[in-house]
Amino acid sequence: MTTNEHLMKTYSPLDVTFEHGEGAYLWDTNGRQYLDALCGIAVCGLGHAHPAITKTISEQAAKLLHTSNLYRIDNQQKLANQLCEVSGMSRVFFSNSGAEANEAAIKIARLYGHKNNIDEPHIIVMENSFHGRTLATLSATGNRKVQAGFEPLVQGFIRVPYNDIDAVKHVAESYHNVAAILVEPIQGEGGIKVPAQDYLNQLREICDQQNWLLMLDEIQTGMGRTGQWFAFQHNKMQPDVMTLAKALGNGVPVGACLAGKKADEIFQPGNHGSTFGGNPLMCATASTVIDTIQSENLLENASKMGSYIVNGFKNKIGQLDGVTEIRGLGLMIGIELDAAKLNHDCAELVRLALQKQLLINVTAGNVIRLLPPLIINQQQADTIINTVSELVASALQKSAA
Ligand SMILES: *Cc1c(COP(=O)(O)O)cnc(C)c1O
Repeated sequence: MTTNEHLMKTYSPLDVTFEHGEGAYLWDTNGRQYLDALCGIAVCGLGHAHPAITKTISEQAAKLLHTSNLYRIDNQQKLANQLCEVSGMSRVFFSNSGAEANEAAIKIARLYGHKNNIDEPHIIVMENSFHGRTLATLSATGNRKVQAGFEPLVQGFIRVPYNDIDAVKHVAESYHNVAAILVEPIQGEGGIKVPAQDYLNQLREICDQQNWLLMLDEIQTGMGRTGQWFAFQHNKMQPDVMTLAKALGNGVPVGACLAGKKADEIFQPGNHGSTFGGNPLMCATASTVIDTIQSENLLENASKMGSYIVNGFKNKIGQLDGVTEIRGLGLMIGIELDAAKLNHDCAELVRLALQKQLLINVTAGNVIRLLPPLIINQQQADTIINTVSELVASALQKSAA
């Protein structure tokens, strides 16, 4: 039995340790098998121990791990080509995490603003958003809990309610120092909040009128999660900047900041950098992630299984008093509960599911968040629907009694 007395207390982990995985399953140190409906918070989209990923990592590790960006890296150029091909963007900067990808986006917005003679360029960000834990990204984040204690915050953000076009128009009329909007196409940590169907298109229109950059944080929604490569592709529009991380490396740390024509030459040598960013190992792995999503038709599967799961929940628990809303896009699924009608804390559902050998998550206090791997099959989807429905029904039943 190991203890964690030498780990900083940034997390309070559940009392379980996983030893190995395969596909949508994990096994703990006692040999118990679990169905993983969270996949490391939307990271292991291809599931665990995918043979193509294992092969790529082993082969690349035996060849070369790292050289630094002082030299050309073929794997990086190949991955950038693939990402631009599937996204319609034109240049990529590679980082090691989501927060760092957003840092790059924020720096691009500021350079862009200065280039357009804005003295103190500001970025419009949303209430209830999540963009990371570095100082700039926690300042951009719309959650006081993430910020509290870390003041002074980074300046230069203007906050508006999510899914509120009039609020953005109001900022356009009253401020003259805005350079960009940074927004999640669907809010993940914020509780799987899906905006109005044409929200992104309307933001696009405002950004075009105002000459602002539209920057999408697709760190959670990207890489097939919603049934398209990127969530913006449901809207037939293009952002100017897009950030990725999470599922991009299927567990190997890699992030990316992509830019389209309006922003792809803003960074010049000396403006930004990263020692590890885009190293041969992470890029080879991410290339295989893209190849595998294509060869296994995982966008289609995510879309099909996502609808199947949402419909399953609507049938089983949609009518229950206490289930506020069941929503999502592709395999990004949220069940919002009325916490007052539960007989226990909403987070307790995570522990009860764990006892039933299912990994789920609760976010924003009262939303069950499901982010199963893109490879999930119908039988596994049924297990998720049945297990979670039973847990929710019994949590609500007891409180009524
Ligand atoms: C997870 C997440 C981040 C932060 O990514 P890290 O890799 O943890 O730094 C940023 N934005 C969104 C939308 C996320 O879901």
